[in-house]
Amino acid sequence: MRFSGLKVLAQGLSGNKGWTAHWRDAQPKPEYDMVIIGGGGHGLSTAYYLAKNHGMTNIAVLEKGYLGGGNVGRNTTIVRANYFLQGNSEFYSHSMKLWEGLEQELNYNVMFSQRGLINLFHSDGQRDAFARRGNMMINQGDDAQLLSREGVRKMLPYLDFEQGRFPIYGGLYHPRGGTARHDAVAWGYARGASDRGVDLVQNCEVTGIDIEGGVVKGVQTTRGAIRAKKVGIIVAGRSGLVAGMAERRLPIESHVLQAFVTEGLKPVIDHVISFGMGHFYISQSDKGGLVFGGDLDFYSSYAQRGNLPMKEHVMEAGMTLMPMIGKAKVLRSWGGIMDMTPDGSPIIDKMEGIDGLYIDCGWNYGGFKAVPASGWCMAHLMATDQHHDYAAKFRMDRFRTGVSIMDEEGTGSQHNLH
Ligand SMILES: Cc1cc2nc3c(=O)[nH]c(=O)nc-3n(C[C@H](O)[C@H](O)[C@H](O)COP(=O)(O)OP(=O)(O)OC[C@H]3O[C@@H](n4cnc5c(N)ncnc54)[C@H](O)[C@@H]3O)c2cc1C
Repeated sequence: MRFSGLKVLAQGLSGNKGWTAHWRDAQPKPEYDMVIIGGGGHGLSTAYYLAKNHGMTNIAVLEKGYLGGGNVGRNTTIVRANYFLQGNSEFYSHSMKLWEGLEQELNYNVMFSQRGLINLFHSDGQRDAFARRGNMMINQGDDAQLLSREGVRKMLPYLDFEQGRFPIYGGLYHPRGGTARHDAVAWGYARGASDRGVDLVQNCEVTGIDIEGGVVKGVQTTRGAIRAKKVGIIVAGRSGLVAGMAERRLPIESHVLQAFVTEGLKPVIDHVISFGMGHFYISQSDKGGLVFGGDLDFYSSYAQRGNLPMKEHVMEAGMTLMPMIGKAKVLRSWGGIMDMTPDGSPIIDKMEGIDGLYIDCGWNYGGFKAVPASGWCMAHLMATDQHHDYAAKFRMDRFRTGVSIMDEEGTGSQHNLH
């Protein structure tokens, strides 16, 4: 089933009775060439690019719940390519280019909206740091403009420019940054992969990984054993638990990150804004809700919900930056489990000492925007056993050797600051 304006019109006139399911609800087969554990954004995009770029279709994606029920459907939808360090910058730049063609590629409306992202700065030192970052973005071929205080005021007149504690000095504007409808991205990749023959198996939790003589042989699941020549672990916040099934420890801590949405309002915020003096970022969804979030809750957890102190902290930051937000009613809040690495950068690698086992994790706060490039590079690694150039630095051994650590924020291993 292909989507088009004509099709929407024809279906509208005929009672919308002709739409078919977006993907096949597959039953697990006893054997596949490859098994992907985890039906989130990264697992689905990996399966899609394995089929599309490498012609591999005897693949299953095994998801313990429903597709898109994890972080890919829980994030605040921000897409950007504004990284400073090499290793990350070319990867996210590639991801942005994939985003820009994604709807045509998938024939699916993921509501990608390049409404522009503005990172505010509040001191001379912070301005210098953002100017450097902007220059690196331009060198990478991406876009960046340094805005003065007056430049920011023209675009975001509702911010509090008068308050003395965190005066707004200006902002780094990234016009190609923006948002996309998060679960539609999962559905679009799911549909594309399923159309190419990939089996998407829901309600199928992987409970064990079969390894014989250092070679992966398959997985144990709640729906029986499945043999596979290659297995990819792509489970975000549960990476440590699943890697533990292969007796491997990861340099990952799982932390809760919360998000909030208000009642629907008329259009007021037409950019993505990030506060520079606290963890707070905000955009407005196409339905009108103000979508915002902040810092991690300060404890490790596998619960997909957070606690009140962080709610208070986020609301305080929002009120400091734009007091008008105090009039909006918060409708909902929720949490997701973040896979935090010590340097804030991801891992796309083979699992050392186990042939045929691969891992894609460590996406921290920012894995939604990475979904296209992560799938692209992980598929390349699983299909060819070679690291893709764009993800060449995402090796796990950097945490052992200390070489090639990509500490974007320069905050060392303090997870809540990455
Ligand atoms: C509140 C919040 C806000 C965020 N905001 C942004 C943002 O604005 N921009 C951005 O770029 N990123 C953001 N992120 C981060 C981003 O959402 C994640 O980094 C990314 O979605 C993680 O990858 P994923 O989509 O594959 O994860 P998930 O969707 O969590 O996929 C992993 C899947 O694995 C499944 N699984 C786990 N264990 C097993 C098992 N044993 N067997 C089978 N399946 C299993 C899970 O059920 C899950 O569906 C945010 C995250 C949160 C929680």
